[in-house]
Amino acid sequence: MSDPIQQAAGLLVQSRRTIALTGAGISVESGIPPFRGKGGLWEKIDPMKYAHIDAYERDPAEVWRVLFLGLKDTLAMAQPNHGHHGLYQLEILGVLSTVITQNIDGLHQQAGSRDVIEFHGTFAKQRCMTCRQPIPTSQVDLSVLPPRCTCGGLLRPDVVMFGEPIDMSLLQRSQMLASSCDVILVVGTSATVEPAAYLPIIAKRSGAAVVEINPEKTPLTRHTSDVTLLGEAGTTMRQLVAAIKKERLRYDSR
Ligand code: NAD
Ligand code: ZN
Repeated sequence: MSDPIQQAAGLLVQSRRTIALTGAGISVESGIPPFRGKGGLWEKIDPMKYAHIDAYERDPAEVWRVLFLGLKDTLAMAQPNHGHHGLYQLEILGVLSTVITQNIDGLHQQAGSRDVIEFHGTFAKQRCMTCRQPIPTSQVDLSVLPPRCTCGGLLRPDVVMFGEPIDMSLLQRSQMLASSCDVILVVGTSATVEPAAYLPIIAKRSGAAVVEINPEKTPLTRHTSDVTLLGEAGTTMRQLVAAIKKERLRYDSR
């Protein structure tokens, strides 16, 4: 059996349409802790207590203090890493068409990726819970918590919290892409948060190959992934991009 990087490169070079699904793991090397796993936020806080819409409605100031203030500082300092850059390079090479990300950090766009579906929204914006007016997070006055809109309404991050639905048009487009791709590249997700976790299953059932990059095994690894690249996103993406460039030359010169 050939090396898994070679197998993945072979699948990607021959694929007519490839999409990527990314999760918190791709941003770990940018200094943003994931939710689950080693060093994850959930070792410190109870998500249901703080990342749930009910918690925000009950005590928004407390959720800002415990979760959002720290997140805002961490995200403001974060830069894309080789994982994000690698996905952009795959786009430039014509290998990858769309990135569906569960992340709220904007790092795929910062790396250059043009078609990014922010499945769980973005922390770069806040929106008013009364008049719905959006405002860049960097412009929000956080000297008094919780932050408020000029209309007096409560501001909230433009993200999907637990207990909230995914935007219907983003969900439909993502499902359509998953059911029509030849390869789905799944990077740095524990594949446990629905409905995002279902996208690789939809792809697989529609005949696509599933290539996974993660240092740990996930629920996809055994039954769904065709190739698992066990490793960190940055190093693995660099190896994968190099292998694709080589494979491309071989494939094109046939
Ligand atoms: P998760 O926290 O559930 O899982 C993270 C996964 O990344 C794990 O499987 C872990 O093994 C893997 N991982 C750890 N280090 C890695 C590395 N260097 N390279 C590749 N993979 C690595 O993340 P999830 O599946 O995305 O689900 C959590 C939810 O939390 C998402 O909905 C997301 O919206 C939110 N979240 C986002 C951010 C962010 O925007 N960066 C950060 C934390 C949580
Ligand atoms: Zn308002």
